[in-house]
Amino acid sequence: MMTPEQYIESLRNQKKEVYFMGERVENVVDHPAMRPHINAASVTYKLGTEEKYEELGSATSHLTGNKINRWTHIPQNQEDLVKKAMMLRVAGQITGTCFQRCVGMDGLITLYSTTWEMDQDLGTDYHERFKRFLIETQNHDYMTDGAMTDPKGDRSKRPSEQHDPDLYVRVVEEKEDGIVVRGAKMHQTGAINSHQILVMPGTAMSPKDADYALSFTVPADEKGVIYVFGRQVNDSRKWEGKIDQGNAKYGVVGGEALIIFEDVFVPWERVFMYKETQYTGKLVDRFASYHRQNYGACKAGNLDVLIGATASLADMHGISKAGHVKEKLAEMAHLVETMYSGALACSFNCSKNGCGTAFVDPVLANSSKLNTARYYPEVTKLSQDLAGGFVATLPSEQELDNPRIAPYIYKYYSTGENVDPIDRIKMGRLVENMTGSTPIIECMHGAGSPQAQKVVIQRSINWGEKIKFAKEIVKDAKEQNEVLQ
Ligand code: SF4
Repeated sequence: MMTPEQYIESLRNQKKEVYFMGERVENVVDHPAMRPHINAASVTYKLGTEEKYEELGSATSHLTGNKINRWTHIPQNQEDLVKKAMMLRVAGQITGTCFQRCVGMDGLITLYSTTWEMDQDLGTDYHERFKRFLIETQNHDYMTDGAMTDPKGDRSKRPSEQHDPDLYVRVVEEKEDGIVVRGAKMHQTGAINSHQILVMPGTAMSPKDADYALSFTVPADEKGVIYVFGRQVNDSRKWEGKIDQGNAKYGVVGGEALIIFEDVFVPWERVFMYKETQYTGKLVDRFASYHRQNYGACKAGNLDVLIGATASLADMHGISKAGHVKEKLAEMAHLVETMYSGALACSFNCSKNGCGTAFVDPVLANSSKLNTARYYPEVTKLSQDLAGGFVATLPSEQELDNPRIAPYIYKYYSTGENVDPIDRIKMGRLVENMTGSTPIIECMHGAGSPQAQKVVIQRSINWGEKIKFAKEIVKDAKEQNEVLQ
């Protein structure tokens, strides 16, 4: 396994084609817009290798018996799924933001069982290929970017019906030794700091979409793979100083990028689905359930940090003993624990796939993500309510270097003899950045928009059974009436 330092150094050896704000970035590791997100991802390596966390952050590979990082592990039982959720909460508490590696983890887990099923049904050899890739990933402790979301163009049309055929990733040439792919994947969390890209179909497809029913992997610095790193609200603060960013070490959300595949060659050995459209829906649903399991845990960890910042500000403001403050803090904690309980519940209520992989309860996992999309903004609203308006009007950290102004900042931002006004400003900035628009939007749409969870829930619930329960009660009441008469 790699240590955080080894992980960061390993990124220096890559020759990725990355662009940000109109320029090519040769060195992502030391770029101020990217480094905080790299630090956040490095925490997944910390959990795998530090004694204090390794019980959660490491696992034993069911393929090799080697000790591996849990972010590369295929859950074998209920305990593995529960530990996955617990690990994410801890990583969320350390970083206060997205640590990115879970999309790839869930891609590995999903493809492991889906390729097994394809081989069973179709006589293909995808699973054996995939196992070789997985063992390599585990042995080298690679960070995998799970790439699912296509640009999608007109949402009312299928991939093959779009005005531009490249709006979903597709095969453009079949060769003896592999395929050539073209297209793009959007909103790719951790892409610029991953070792490899694992592409999966982003939607259920019909036979007409066969050229789009693809899963494959390429090294992250493969020729023809281009990254455009996204902007975030207030991101220029990252290169303007340390305080105004709020979370200078780990950043806000995951540092997302657009990945462009400019006619990229993929050898057959790295292709895990090729035109089997009938498996696309199953793969997407399965991946979504695993990733929706996570949200109740990683976001709970992030919000633990926000609750801490809010309580700390309440202390600094001298209001922590007020009844309404205690009540609102309790409400925040209640919402967070409700989110987390969903992540645990879907893990406890798991089942096993044919190949022995443990699978979360999909209804509970989707309910947990839906709760997270609903409660996360509630918690941020309560935090803003308690933290006060100063969070939105703070002067820039550059004023602290101005001898004419700095003494006034210290004087007027002080709330008591024992409160360092700079600590108060830092905490205010943390609240401002954690409750701003980027994390709220990410929480809403990451792992799928709320409507996607409602569709799964609607589809999965046995409505007839529920009606039967009600009819039984009414029937019993009728029988009882007859007895009484
Ligand atoms: Fe992991 Fe959460 Fe980030 Fe998804 S949003 S990659 S689950 S930390």
